[in-house]
Amino acid sequence: MELFVCKFGGSSVASSGKLRHIVRIIQDNPRRRCIVLSAPGKAPGFPVKITDLLIDIVKKALNNEKFDGSIREIKQRFHAIYDPLTLPSDQIDSLLKDLDDRLNFSKDHAGKFRDRIVAAGEDLNCRLFARYLISMGINARYINPREAGMAVTPVFGDAQPLPSCAIRMAHLKGVCAETIILFPGFFGYTAEGDVATFSRGGSDLTGSLLAEALDAVEYENWTDVDGIFSAHPAMVDAPLQIPALTYKEMRELSYMGFNVLHEEAVKPVRRKKIPIRLRNTDNLANEGTLIVSERLPSERDVIGVASSSGYCSFTLQKFLMNREKGFGRRLLSIFEDLGLSYEHCPSGVDNISVILNQEQLTSEIVNTIIRTIEERLQPDEIKSEFGIALVSVVGEGLVHKIGFLAKATSALAKAKVNIKMVNQGSSEMSIIFGIDATDEKKAVHALYREFFSVNS
Ligand code: ASP
Repeated sequence: MELFVCKFGGSSVASSGKLRHIVRIIQDNPRRRCIVLSAPGKAPGFPVKITDLLIDIVKKALNNEKFDGSIREIKQRFHAIYDPLTLPSDQIDSLLKDLDDRLNFSKDHAGKFRDRIVAAGEDLNCRLFARYLISMGINARYINPREAGMAVTPVFGDAQPLPSCAIRMAHLKGVCAETIILFPGFFGYTAEGDVATFSRGGSDLTGSLLAEALDAVEYENWTDVDGIFSAHPAMVDAPLQIPALTYKEMRELSYMGFNVLHEEAVKPVRRKKIPIRLRNTDNLANEGTLIVSERLPSERDVIGVASSSGYCSFTLQKFLMNREKGFGRRLLSIFEDLGLSYEHCPSGVDNISVILNQEQLTSEIVNTIIRTIEERLQPDEIKSEFGIALVSVVGEGLVHKIGFLAKATSALAKAKVNIKMVNQGSSEMSIIFGIDATDEKKAVHALYREFFSVNS
């Protein structure tokens, strides 16, 4: 059976009206057989996401503080959503009792306790939505992730799916042939039977794992934006929407802060080349953005211009550095020993830089880095610099493009942006420029204007 997996994010399930609307979306296409739901997100009058309320309850419970008010708020919220859908109040209450049961779980292991509580947002929402669909005479069934085979590592709050997930859950194909299945996002079960959640936004990953297991023809990810844009709307006015991009291009953009989809969600569908379509629940006329394994050569080689700030660099000079065996390894091991991850490591003749996210650093760590580099590598000079932004131009077409770098650098020069670093990864999928963070917007503008030929 050719089926779609559809994941509806928190904003798409945040009110009764939204739920009525997604029922129409589901019914619009009989191939929409597997539905993954998030916990209700923010909505008018409800400024806090259910997941955040649950996280707050966990903190309070672990600190032996009172949390009755937050529990009441969650229950009221579910009532506000499901009462107007004419689900009998006692049915809602009997399901919500599950939350009280979860709170009686042992707190000996904080992670296990946390995940059991935090996963309740998705689980309760999915059970209630299943009741609602059934009450409307729609053939639908709630699926418990444990019985389904959503097997994950016991890393609480940041679980990873086990490689066997797809095979374990393949039996759901038969169930989908008989009924629409409703699957709660965001969590799975460890081998010991504990609930373990993915990292935040992890319902995207649930949808992707199911698409893989069910050999879906498409994974529709329904959210509150039209799709992915060629630049961040905060940087460029009305940037163009990208109709289609590849998994690799998506990875490059999300590395630079395009946070439309959970980073890990591409991996399972990529294995089977299943397209992901990002769509806006509130704008059905828009076809969204398709993420595929290969795209037809379009008129554009560049798919997007992205940027992110908050980086710093450590640059070393040492005469005849290239003759010292293991210099690069010894340099990087200093960062590794301090538990720091690095982003880029461009090098030249007798110089090498390490670029890191500066959030990881304190002035004490910076001093330790410099002291250790001096001791272990004896550079002629070492310099640290903070407040760097990275701006990248992304597109699979760049690999065939002659003169592309010249175009990009001259656009930056015209805009009077000083380039501190250029890094063209060996995939030639993107070129990353390191610049002063104060020039970030100017640089994105200049590059966007250059490659998208608009007069913004
Ligand atoms: N509800 C969870 C979160 O807010 C998971 C998700 O929505 O994907 O992170």
